[in-house]
Amino acid sequence: MNRIYLDNAATTPLSPEVLEAMMPYLTGRYGNASSIYDTGRDARRAIDDARKQVAGLIGARTNEIHFTSGGTESDNWALKGIAFARRSKGNHIITSAIEHHAVLETARWLETEGFDVTYLPVSASGIVNPEDVKNAIKDRTILISIMAANNEIGTLQPAEAIGAIAREHKIPFHSDAVQAAGAIGVDVNAWQVDLLSLSGHKFHGPKGTGALYVRSGTRILPLLHGGAQERNRRAGTENVAGIVGLGKAAERAGMMMDENAEKITRLRNILIDGITGAIPHVRLNGDRTNRLPNNANLSFRYIEGEALLLHLDLNGIAASSGSACASGSLEPSHVLLGMGLAAEDAHSSLRFTLSEATTHEEINTVLAILPGIVDKLRAMSPLAS
Ligand SMILES: *Cc1c(COP(=O)(O)O)cnc(C)c1O
Repeated sequence: MNRIYLDNAATTPLSPEVLEAMMPYLTGRYGNASSIYDTGRDARRAIDDARKQVAGLIGARTNEIHFTSGGTESDNWALKGIAFARRSKGNHIITSAIEHHAVLETARWLETEGFDVTYLPVSASGIVNPEDVKNAIKDRTILISIMAANNEIGTLQPAEAIGAIAREHKIPFHSDAVQAAGAIGVDVNAWQVDLLSLSGHKFHGPKGTGALYVRSGTRILPLLHGGAQERNRRAGTENVAGIVGLGKAAERAGMMMDENAEKITRLRNILIDGITGAIPHVRLNGDRTNRLPNNANLSFRYIEGEALLLHLDLNGIAASSGSACASGSLEPSHVLLGMGLAAEDAHSSLRFTLSEATTHEEINTVLAILPGIVDKLRAMSPLAS
């Protein structure tokens, strides 16, 4: 059976070009970038090149890019590093109710350390209102953290408007751009963002790689103490091969962005229109147009997303119900609930996320198989009668 992978928000396949770029650093070119002899300098140069590639993807300067172990570390570092660096100035943090768990759980932990967190609500399509950000600001607000694009529903947030408000009030602004980076244009200066998280494995790079952009002049405490790596901000011998892979993936994503976004959006729309046209009682979750190119999140009335997911899997199709971290638990998605969906509609949601590798034929296969699965499950559902 040909497997069809439509869960690219959870992770993406490593690009062969990226693997090829990494291979020498997993084999013969094994130097430690802190060593001053030849093989060490070789590793240092590779890291410097990758830093340029990642900076280029988001319009940053190279010295503002700090390599991390991924999106989770970048989010943890941004929130904890700023919260503790600015503790004498205040203890209030503003974020949204629909952030990824890497931000939400960090914010909750900071609450146990004496910080006060405001979790802003979102509209029915999952968008934070910049006016709400403005109204939530207090004298003791020390950080605003609002994601660029949501991982479950793909909705894009008004980063520029929020950035302008943060700048006006001189409050550092962090954005979790893990889903946005590599998929849509990200520009740290247009957004006036001070910190930004990204992750390699969400754009065909290796897992366990990521970066935190920190605007020059922003004071942040380290999460990891030890050696002087990453300008004294993130200790530990660099994951040279991983960093090289992240850099290559960033370069690729930047070069192919317009072409990929157009192709993926077209296929995604064929998928959404095909499903809503063929299956009754389906709703699209999130904003129809103001969303990531690759995201289709739909609720299928009267059935459990989990049941749909399992039947699709039996047919060789990988999708997601709720976010990857939430699946396995019976808690409905905090994002869908945050948008005001009833618990049963949240439970009946299914997320398809495409990538540059997705083909029209694969979308047609899904459209051929899905209505039958939905019919069968609804026929068994006590809710549907
Ligand atoms: C995947 C993801 C993360 C976590 O990134 P990892 O590299 O998997 O730790 C954080 N935020 C968002 C929005 C994500 O989609």
